[in-house]
Amino acid sequence: IETNIRGTEVALAAAARYGKRILLTSTSEVYGKSSKVPFSEDDDTTYGPTTKQRWSYAISKAVDEFLLLAYCESHGLPGVIVRLFNTVGPRQVPHYGMVIPRFIQQALAGGPITVYGDGSQRRCFAHVADIVPALAQLIENDAAVGHVVNLGSQEEVSILELAERIVAKTNPSVPIRFVPYERAFPQGFEDMARRIPDLTKAQRLIAYQPQKSLDQIIEEILEMEQQDS
Ligand code: UDP
Repeated sequence: IETNIRGTEVALAAAARYGKRILLTSTSEVYGKSSKVPFSEDDDTTYGPTTKQRWSYAISKAVDEFLLLAYCESHGLPGVIVRLFNTVGPRQVPHYGMVIPRFIQQALAGGPITVYGDGSQRRCFAHVADIVPALAQLIENDAAVGHVVNLGSQEEVSILELAERIVAKTNPSVPIRFVPYERAFPQGFEDMARRIPDLTKAQRLIAYQPQKSLDQIIEEILEMEQQDS
């Protein structure tokens, strides 16, 4: 909480002081447990109670967004907020969850692949090489100043299907193990069932169109893993 909020405050104050533009990378977590499909930037957010630590990330990133918008409003700071949805790519470390590098490393080690819950939860994964140029374009874009913009992909996949695709591309004899949520996470953890970005705003501002499909992403990560090992 302190890292998110204090760090952002320091960066915003410095940008305002030296007359610099700033781009805040926020997260799709900010939508909380809303079940709306797809998520649009102006949608309402829904969070769980403060006794569940899980929500502190979403809420502290939402505070960062409030801070940036307040700096735009009261200091004329040219700032843009981007909400990233499951960005992945070669050499991503499997810490803090990160399902694709985890599944790939598990598969290459002979398994098992750990699917949390029943694997029916769905996500959209975007390649970092589609996201980074979009960030560079958005920070330069005057029409994006003072705005929140979603970035990600709309190609949806269930986590079980993701595991099956990775098994098929690595070693079909690797087992998939279902791990109950209560064993994978602290008690009371709530996973998002679906998370799809509405990309209309990014398309309007920078003609954003992700190029890499999920299969291309998985194959590229696999190639890199094999080169590195
Ligand atoms: N997940 C899984 N097995 C793992 C790691 C993650 O089934 O070993 C699931 C996780 O519960 C979530 C999805 O994969 O539903 C994406 O997880 P990740 O941490 O990559 O991103 P999130 O969307 O949760 O921020």
